[in-house]
Amino acid sequence: MAVADREIQEIVKEVLKKLQSTSEIPIQKELGIFEDMEDAIRAAKYTQEQLREMSLEFREKIISNIRKKTLENSQLLAEMGVQETGMGRVGHKVLKHQLVAEKTPGTEDLTTGVWSGDRGLTLVEQGPFGVIGAVTPSTNPSETVICNTIGMIAGGNTVVFNPHPGAIQVSNQAVKLLNEASMEVGGPANIATSVTKPTLKTADVLFHHIDIPLLVATGGPAVVQAVLSSGKRGIGAGAGNPPVVVDETADIKKAAEDIVNGATFDNNLPCIAEKEVIAVNKITDELLYYMQENGCYKASWQEVGKLANLLLDTSKGHPMVRREWVGKDAKLILRGIGVEVEEDIRCIIFESPRDHIFVVEELMMPVLGIIRAEDFQEAMDIAKELEHGNRHSAHIHSKNVDNLTRFGKAIDTAIFVKNAPSYAALGFGGEGYCSFTIASKTGEGLTSTKTFTKSRRCVLSDNLSIR
Ligand code: NAD
Repeated sequence: MAVADREIQEIVKEVLKKLQSTSEIPIQKELGIFEDMEDAIRAAKYTQEQLREMSLEFREKIISNIRKKTLENSQLLAEMGVQETGMGRVGHKVLKHQLVAEKTPGTEDLTTGVWSGDRGLTLVEQGPFGVIGAVTPSTNPSETVICNTIGMIAGGNTVVFNPHPGAIQVSNQAVKLLNEASMEVGGPANIATSVTKPTLKTADVLFHHIDIPLLVATGGPAVVQAVLSSGKRGIGAGAGNPPVVVDETADIKKAAEDIVNGATFDNNLPCIAEKEVIAVNKITDELLYYMQENGCYKASWQEVGKLANLLLDTSKGHPMVRREWVGKDAKLILRGIGVEVEEDIRCIIFESPRDHIFVVEELMMPVLGIIRAEDFQEAMDIAKELEHGNRHSAHIHSKNVDNLTRFGKAIDTAIFVKNAPSYAALGFGGEGYCSFTIASKTGEGLTSTKTFTKSRRCVLSDNLSIR
């Protein structure tokens, strides 16, 4: 056979292959949303083959339109999120979407390593995994979907989501927005896909599918465990219970304001938010005073008992947090125990022993226990105990550099914020980029484009070095 004939046959084979895979993509009700998980994966696979042929410049064009559309739709997504999940605050969710749009890294996060010398030129470049499977939470639903997708497509991947069933409308609205953003600038559909009805069964299909080489879990312990036992490479962004320590050298007035701002952001839903305070005895009264000046209601011990009855379900022996109170306003929670407060009350505080269920469990509500410690060493010990080895987030207010260093080393978390509200770690009032998937369990920390790529060494022997 002549060379030209062979080439023509190869081209025909390629075209047929493409047509075949296109025709397998089923009709979607809405952009990127499929009835069947298998279809969602197939569609994302087809798009990934297109995406990897595109220039980095074109990926950036898509990402830039995602940023624009996220800003335009931040109010809508925030309102949808609060309405559907019944959790959080619209104003704060708007800010979270703006943060994702403006501070999630794109293709600039990809770097190249190089060695050049007598034996030639060697590059290490970061390439896509392919189609990534991602599970997202109810607490930051559309924020996580958009943030994950920007990083994943910047790395040349596409993504299939199995969102939290309790946040499916808003998560799928975000998936639709992502695909519209791509198509508006001439990009492909299905850069991100999802299903109409996510279940444990659809998650199982995703976790064990041959076309999914990487799984990313953002959520509580069960989903992280499921992903890490799937036999695939997994990125686990799990639960936290971040303590904040205040020592006697801190600016107590500022510490109080920062802690209340961090702990009440989106009604304490972010996994990085201050969940309990450990203050050295010498300054605890002053801290409590300034916290009350900043919109906190100090509950009596009797009221704490009533709160426990309201917020915890003890019917199964072990007390469990009642989901219907997660992410609710402090005023509403207080009303639940018959306490009416002024409009500006945004957090409930109480003096807590170190083993109270409210400080031991991750409540995700604006209810904050304040624990007294004799000295800094005891404060660190209590904080470590309450972080439960999650290695997620911890915070401190102190001007003593020795204390800052000692606590940072001892607590060993992915995030450690000093003298600021916890959200400074997301780039909100702090330096650095934003991520809503903090891989505490598997050690990647705040995920970004490079987290979703694999390293490839490309060697050219004995040439192209001009030294
Ligand atoms: P969740 O654990 O209830 O749900 C998270 C996701 O996992 C959902 O999509 C859910 O459907 C799925 N899921 C749960 N169990 C599963 C299983 N066995 N198999 C497959 N999928 C499963 O969490 P949530 O209430 O939506 O979110 C709050 C939790 O997530 C908190 O613990 C919080 O700390 C954590 N979180 C962590 C991060 C992080 O970046 N580390 C970010 C957000 C939330």
